[in-house]
Amino acid sequence: MTEQGNRAAGPDADLTRWSAAELGRAIGAGEVSAEEVTRAHLDRIAAVEARVHASLHVDGEGALAAARSVDSRRAAGQAVGPLGGVPVAVKDVLVTRGIPTTCGSRILENWLPPYDATVVERLRDAGLVMLGKTNMDEFAMGSSTEYSAFGPSYNPWDLSRIPGGSGGGSAAAVAGCEAPLAIGTDTGGSIRQPGAVTGTVGAKPTYGGTSRYGLIAFSSSLDTPGPVARTVEDAALLHAVIGGPDPRDSTSIPAPVPDVVAAARQGASGDLTGVRLGLVKEFAGEGAEPGVSAAVRDAIEALTKLGAEVVEVSCPHFRYALPAYYLIAPSECSSNLARFDGVRYGLRVGDDGTRSLEEVMSLTRDRGFGPEVKRRIMLGTYALSAGYYDAYYGQAQKVRTLISRDFAAAFAAADVLVAPTTPFVAFPFGARTSDPYQMYLADLYTIPSNLYGGPAISVPCGLSEGLPVGLQVMAPTMADDRMYRVAAALESTVGLFTPPEL
Ligand code: GLN
Repeated sequence: MTEQGNRAAGPDADLTRWSAAELGRAIGAGEVSAEEVTRAHLDRIAAVEARVHASLHVDGEGALAAARSVDSRRAAGQAVGPLGGVPVAVKDVLVTRGIPTTCGSRILENWLPPYDATVVERLRDAGLVMLGKTNMDEFAMGSSTEYSAFGPSYNPWDLSRIPGGSGGGSAAAVAGCEAPLAIGTDTGGSIRQPGAVTGTVGAKPTYGGTSRYGLIAFSSSLDTPGPVARTVEDAALLHAVIGGPDPRDSTSIPAPVPDVVAAARQGASGDLTGVRLGLVKEFAGEGAEPGVSAAVRDAIEALTKLGAEVVEVSCPHFRYALPAYYLIAPSECSSNLARFDGVRYGLRVGDDGTRSLEEVMSLTRDRGFGPEVKRRIMLGTYALSAGYYDAYYGQAQKVRTLISRDFAAAFAAADVLVAPTTPFVAFPFGARTSDPYQMYLADLYTIPSNLYGGPAISVPCGLSEGLPVGLQVMAPTMADDRMYRVAAALESTVGLFTPPEL
């Protein structure tokens, strides 16, 4: 059932199977129009969305208008760029002007943002065609999309299983060929973990390498927008479009993104001579399923056949990453989410010409936050309270510094670190909702890079029980190019992963 290996190799009659790079090239060469490409994806959405539920909003008319504008610019002889006319889906945590943006929450239902996030603006400027907004755990808190107020998304590999989270909608859309590209956001793993469990490529850029302007804040010191794709080159192309300095984001890094596209192409040649892969000693035996460990071991061996060298590194504080994250992220969220007070966003007084302030307040309270968001706000408020601040929030910040020092020491001995992306393959719905800690474990291996701020990518490396496994490649801050090189080299030997037909 599973074809593995050659999807991007030859032209396929079905445009939804093409890579973004191929689509962009064919559109640029006039072999296919952006409108045709967009229609093919809208048809695919119409055919599978009832089963996958990757999206919260599909903007068919807007997408076709954007595609036609790319076609007419091309016809007028203007350059449209490598991703001009290529469809993209955007996680519903990024604001889009005049297009519903809910963050997977009832509290933002009916809200129409008055502006575009920088990432969205850059997509439009580069001629990408936005298909719509993807499903997510409420306010990006979760690892399965089961905390979306609008129902979960389904994993195209097995519709009885979760597509990861919080960005499960973006990953499901790309794995299910509803879009060749999507945007996710990664605070503790929400691009990489969905990537791993859906057999897609997901990259968290260096913190500050992609703008947070217009990204509805969960944990401001961690939130990072990034690309989701089916190939490493596609992820790099998208990363190059959305990344780089933004004067509207005070934590944006004032330096260009390294040449991630060139690095991905270099990696695809399959030569990793002299590249040192660091294996984190403390991750060994840390709770990964045997099938996941085996696939990751095989992937690392495949990388050594391409010339890479394996070194063991020690990161003794990584074991405290999960507890530190679950103090820092809730603390920041308890402050950030205070703005959703039922007055400023969502339902408005006078909507439908009728609603009074009292009605709006009581409707908003009824709709309220879901259980996971409430749990985080309570945790964060407690951790920040007078008397407990030093013991919890202050202590977690110290651990964060120690984790960054572990990375610095590891990167003196290794060029990149490699590890599983997630300890387990896609799990069945309901398997981890009764015990929050079991859900939090999904991000055991992804959280250290968030606390440190460095880039990390998940690339499909094999199957376990017929389900995809991701290899995670972590790099030093602002060395995003390195992870693309290693990920592309792996892809060149293990091939691409296509889910069974839906
Ligand atoms: N699963 C993690 C959490 O629930 C990560 C979320 C994210 O990266 N947005 O907080």
